[in-house]
Amino acid sequence: MSTFTKITTPNGKTYEQPVGLFINNEWVHSDATINTINPSTGEVICSVQAASTKHVDDAVKAANIAFERDDWSGISGAQRGDYLYKISQLIKRDQELLASIEAMDNGKPYEKECINVDVEQASAVFKYYAGWADKITGQYIGTEVLGSGRIAYTDPCPIGTVGQIIPWNFPFLMLSWKIAPALATGNTVVLKSSEITPLSALYFAKLCKEAGLPKGVVNILSGYGKDAGAHLASHPNIQKIAFTGSTFTGGKIMEAAASSNLKNVTLECGGKSPYIVFDDCDFDAAIEWGFKGIFHNKGEVCSSTSRFFIQDTIYDKFVEAFVKYVEEYAKVSDPFEKGCIIGPLVSDLQYSKVRHYVESGKKEGAKLLTGEFIDGPGYYAKPFVFADCTDDMTIMKEEIFGPVVGITKFKTIDEVIKRSNSSTYGLAASIFTNNITKATQVARKIDSGMIYINSNGNFDLHVPFGGMKMSGIGRELGTYALDMYTEHKAVHINLNLKY
Ligand code: NAD
Repeated sequence: MSTFTKITTPNGKTYEQPVGLFINNEWVHSDATINTINPSTGEVICSVQAASTKHVDDAVKAANIAFERDDWSGISGAQRGDYLYKISQLIKRDQELLASIEAMDNGKPYEKECINVDVEQASAVFKYYAGWADKITGQYIGTEVLGSGRIAYTDPCPIGTVGQIIPWNFPFLMLSWKIAPALATGNTVVLKSSEITPLSALYFAKLCKEAGLPKGVVNILSGYGKDAGAHLASHPNIQKIAFTGSTFTGGKIMEAAASSNLKNVTLECGGKSPYIVFDDCDFDAAIEWGFKGIFHNKGEVCSSTSRFFIQDTIYDKFVEAFVKYVEEYAKVSDPFEKGCIIGPLVSDLQYSKVRHYVESGKKEGAKLLTGEFIDGPGYYAKPFVFADCTDDMTIMKEEIFGPVVGITKFKTIDEVIKRSNSSTYGLAASIFTNNITKATQVARKIDSGMIYINSNGNFDLHVPFGGMKMSGIGRELGTYALDMYTEHKAVHINLNLKY
């Protein structure tokens, strides 16, 4: 079987899609395959080849060797930066094709999401870390601190070969958040993409080869979590595992890391983030940002604010206006259609999960005000808004990861802080009020890695991204991500040669 196949995207772009495994800069064949599905139609786009545990071993070995080789560990930060910059430019060159692949494989809107956010940002992320590659320096600690005869310095070293596992909701963007800082700091990488959306990562591998990246520095595997992913997480010859996905799988990754070689772990997991709207807010802005906060990317966003807490004095007015806005604005359509706001959910499985949660919301007494599943082909649904929810309802506790929001009311600041923090998650929170003192006081007390004041769901590559509690460990983006891929070695020097 060939490791490439010709594909024409729904918007008419014909290209050679890699379908093999990218190990040591070669396309390696595997007999095992995974069908990847276009969620707009439910039809198979193509089959990609799935990594076995032996392929994972081969990829790790290639990355281990690359880590020791002079053409990677011996080059300067500026030279590593050149590779990253080249990759960023190649992504830009192929932006339309990459966005088409992403829209076809995931169902996210081509225009509003794939081209203008995901792929654009992925290129910017590589450019940003290209700039950092030659600025990672240590610290000198002199005699005035340590006393006469003693000095020390820190040596920021790459961790080694890192394993990276990504989900399906932002396949290309998540890849960039993981690979760019790892390379900037001099590590080598084995990345496993999600079995649901493997195509853009394989195309990225092609760009790495074109950029001239030395062999083995980046290895990309398609494969299932339970075998390839689990084997990577428990591999004794990788020194770090960086994971984005569900909290359930995050727990398994930690166990695997602990029981293999106690490797360094970062986790970006799930969330059930609150959207807190006070009655002194800009009302229209709160409606619009509320929409973005939950229904952006079909609600398939880890940081989506899926629990709305609205102050009782504006509750009825808010609910009415929000439902009206959702019904008018949420254009549900094929992701390639101009103006598409909400494409199909990613898969049949995700569709069933969302169905299950909508049923549970109805059964547990939440008031369904709008939303419906649309008959196939494809996995389309109009966004669901439940009002009069209580905190003990399943839809207010569990991460749905789809276009479903639960709305409830609150009276006081203390009450809303307590109820927001009652979740096991702590990824994001959004606060709407024109009283900045109140906003910052609430922000300080909410247990979340990210807080948006008078906005919602935005991210910026200069600002750290990540969660508290069961939403994760560590941060991505900004300078924080550099730290996540660096060991700070401490070197003590005795100038006296005396004991
Ligand atoms: P998932 O946990 O099912 O899978 C994520 C990845 O882990 C996939 O590549 C999968 O193959 C792999 N995997 C599954 N089982 C594994 C195992 N035992 N060992 C190793 N790897 C394994 O998650 P998903 O359904 O792909 O993504 C949705 C989840 O991701 C949601 O919970 C969402 O909140 C979370 N997410 C979090 C962030 C964040 O930054 N915090 C961002 C995006 C998505």
